[in-house]
Amino acid sequence: MLTSSNDNCRDLMKRRANLRLCRFSVVAVLGLLAAACTTNSGTVASDQAMASDTLDSDAEAEEIGESVELGLQWVEHAAEYRALTRQAYGVATRALPELIADHSWSAMPEQQDAGSLPPAVILDVDETVVSNVGFQLSLKPPFANWKLDEWARNSEATPIEGAREFVEAARALGVSVFFVTNRPCEPRPGISDPCPQRQTTIDDIEEVGIPTDAAHVLLSEERGWTREKLSRRLYIAQNYRVIMLIGDDYGDFVPCTRKKVAAPCTQPGTRASRAAALEKYRDYWGQGWYILPNPMHGSWTTVE
Ligand SMILES: [Mg+2]
Repeated sequence: MLTSSNDNCRDLMKRRANLRLCRFSVVAVLGLLAAACTTNSGTVASDQAMASDTLDSDAEAEEIGESVELGLQWVEHAAEYRALTRQAYGVATRALPELIADHSWSAMPEQQDAGSLPPAVILDVDETVVSNVGFQLSLKPPFANWKLDEWARNSEATPIEGAREFVEAARALGVSVFFVTNRPCEPRPGISDPCPQRQTTIDDIEEVGIPTDAAHVLLSEERGWTREKLSRRLYIAQNYRVIMLIGDDYGDFVPCTRKKVAAPCTQPGTRASRAAALEKYRDYWGQGWYILPNPMHGSWTTVE
């Protein structure tokens, strides 16, 4: 066991040496690694891990901590990660016929009497359909939306395994597929389009093999929307029976989970409120709600 542990530490050190984001001195990195290996801490992303709430807020962004780098490595290399995303999408795919047929069903607790509406599913984008682990690995902190925007424009999108197959299965059964992302609309110098990120997002989704269009991709800061996704879910629910929600962040499912209050929420999310919601919506997880792992960033990193 000791040998195995040392081997793991050596492997980890070797991989970390290759990380472009390493900004610490070799001595400091080796010191941190030695401490991590000595204490054998299993914390992938501890409370001390100052991961940025990457796609939610520049203001909330903080430096990525050492322990989060292990999360990056896990997403980048672990077959376990890929198995989990396949698992989530596999479960969702198999549930499609039942949830389509049950006209009394909606995956939105706020939606009532939607039986006459056509079915739709709502997917998040980043770490749900496309992987940004390459961005995370190359990121020089602090996070900024323009950095992700620039990276997305200049990089071929990497798929999250299982997403394309799920979307194809849903569409084959007559289900509309919407993408609700917290990539914000921000002007780019020299471009008149007030939301050039919309086309970049559409391009990213299409690069992983999923055709879509502007009518099915909803960004934050459009039409008075905020980073709180509830408003966009309710917008879609005006014309569709939402049978599934799929995402990697609590906010992809549960309203008002963020530390930073955004309309229509009036209270910040806290660890306690999120725990209460876990219980309140217990029957949805795995039955209409399918959550994907993300140890790299998310709204969970900022709540207290
Ligand atoms: Mg996401």
